[in-house]
Amino acid sequence: MFHVKQSETQSPNTFGMDTPLARELADLTARRKHLESVTVEFGGESRVLTVSNQKGGVGKTTTAVNIASALAGLGAKVIVIDLDPQGNASTALGIIHTTDISSIYDVLINDLPLRDIVQQSPENENLLCAPSTIHLAGAEIELVAQVAREHRLRRALDDYLESSPVDFVIIDCPPSLGLLTINAFTAASEVFIPIQCEYYALEGLSQLLGSIQMIQKHLNPSLHLSTILLTMFDGRTRLAHQVAEEVRTHFPTQVLETVIPRNVRVSEAPSFGQTVIAYDGQSAGAVAYREAAVEIASRKTQSKER
Ligand code: ADP
Ligand code: MG
Repeated sequence: MFHVKQSETQSPNTFGMDTPLARELADLTARRKHLESVTVEFGGESRVLTVSNQKGGVGKTTTAVNIASALAGLGAKVIVIDLDPQGNASTALGIIHTTDISSIYDVLINDLPLRDIVQQSPENENLLCAPSTIHLAGAEIELVAQVAREHRLRRALDDYLESSPVDFVIIDCPPSLGLLTINAFTAASEVFIPIQCEYYALEGLSQLLGSIQMIQKHLNPSLHLSTILLTMFDGRTRLAHQVAEEVRTHFPTQVLETVIPRNVRVSEAPSFGQTVIAYDGQSAGAVAYREAAVEIASRKTQSKER
């Protein structure tokens, strides 16, 4: 259960409005100040979110690592499971993921316990990561021949959580709807979709929703779309506003109030092996991710017993 205490009412996120730069800066200062006064209490059941969208480059990895780091910054115990062979989430969390280390590949294919591969991110002792290496690229094919191929991550995660409970598990998915993503959907109860506020933002979304429904029916009845986050928002373009409005119309309860702006600090951070929360925690991008994390933490979980 989560209890959010806020000592003042939340200032509105004005990225959705057409405001002059000066007003935007003043607003950012107020939002930073507000974040300092927010406290969130954690405890109870683990929430397992899978950050998914079969499109590449929409901000999945960026969202997974920054929300994870922001939640850890609020005091939550968080583990990021890097399920993308690219290993970008591992990189951004400052986690070693060279080919010689044990990784999520060994968990899925060789039955290695999750606890044997988990590393702690240098940026926060509450922030853990199950790294991926390039070996994972072969897992999509190798899984086909495995027993219980759709349930391997779920089983490993259940084992791990029994002895090492955490507040949040955040799974970073590859940009496809293959067996790795199906393993993520089977292990999670919440689907978290980042949507880029650009052309074709909603393209492919119905296919993703169809996959979620199919998993719900056949593999994991507790799976549901809980959260949508609008990313790379450029408030100066009419298109970004139109996309945001359209998504909010279709998914009124799932879309977070907070919108992540396009922000150069966000894109610079991974090359330093950091999330933007550690790299520049007061930047517009970091402030937005911190606000989004507060929203996520304060939403009541609908997840069923694991
Ligand atoms: P995905 O995991 O969906 O493929 P990424 O998270 O890797 O997408 O993001 C794709 C690219 O966009 C990366 O280079 C990343 O740094 C950049 N990016 C993501 N979010 C933002 C943002 N808010 N502002 C600027 N660049 C961003
Ligand atoms: Mg990615």
